[in-house]
Amino acid sequence: MSFAIAIDGPAGAGKSTAARRAAENLNFIYVDTGAMYRTIGLYMLEHQVPVDREESLRKALDEIRIELGYREGIQRMFLNGEDVSDRIRTEEVSAQASVVAAIPAVRSKLLDLQRDMAASQDVIMDGRDIGTNILPDAELKIYLTASVEERARRRYQEMVQKGAECSIEEIRKDIADRDYRDMHRETAPLRQAEDAVYLDTSDMTLDEVVAEITRLAKEKM
Ligand code: C5P
Repeated sequence: MSFAIAIDGPAGAGKSTAARRAAENLNFIYVDTGAMYRTIGLYMLEHQVPVDREESLRKALDEIRIELGYREGIQRMFLNGEDVSDRIRTEEVSAQASVVAAIPAVRSKLLDLQRDMAASQDVIMDGRDIGTNILPDAELKIYLTASVEERARRRYQEMVQKGAECSIEEIRKDIADRDYRDMHRETAPLRQAEDAVYLDTSDMTLDEVVAEITRLAKEKM
């Protein structure tokens, strides 16, 4: 029997970094489902697909083949055979990912892929609807969040460290817009599952978050 940990929460709450490190501690596979939506978003941007037109969208979805691979334990995303892991990390792709993620046909394309991954191995899967929709029977569910201000501050520091020029006010607005879209869409909106542990990381260090996820998991295993 495999063991599943579902981590959901808003953009920039630090889910991926914490989940990846907790997965290392527990010897689980880490699955970043946001990267799958980003990959579809990237395709739509690069092919200038008018995603609000059903026929164009359906045709594009038929042409998209998404695969996950792992290199030194790190998840890589492949779009029609090409490694796009780095190209899906721009702000433009973030915004487009949350637009396409509201479309039911996009979500159903990814549903089986995500469920299959958790069926055969121990996983920590992060996203927006993992505990509520993809893995409703996950052994452990965590809703990981932090204030918008704190999330914007962390993202800003990350970008400054990479040498990127950016405004914290713009980042705050992008995050707030994305939260709104993710929480208010009709299909699988972001919300806390009833049986999820609520973890506000605003005043926690990354090490503390990783330790808490690991502790909660060990308690259930
Ligand atoms: O987690 P990340 O920021 O990479 O996700 C990008 C976008 O993909 C989110 O803003 C959200 O709209 C969408 N997403 C989703 N369901 C998931 C994971 C991500 O709708 N399980």
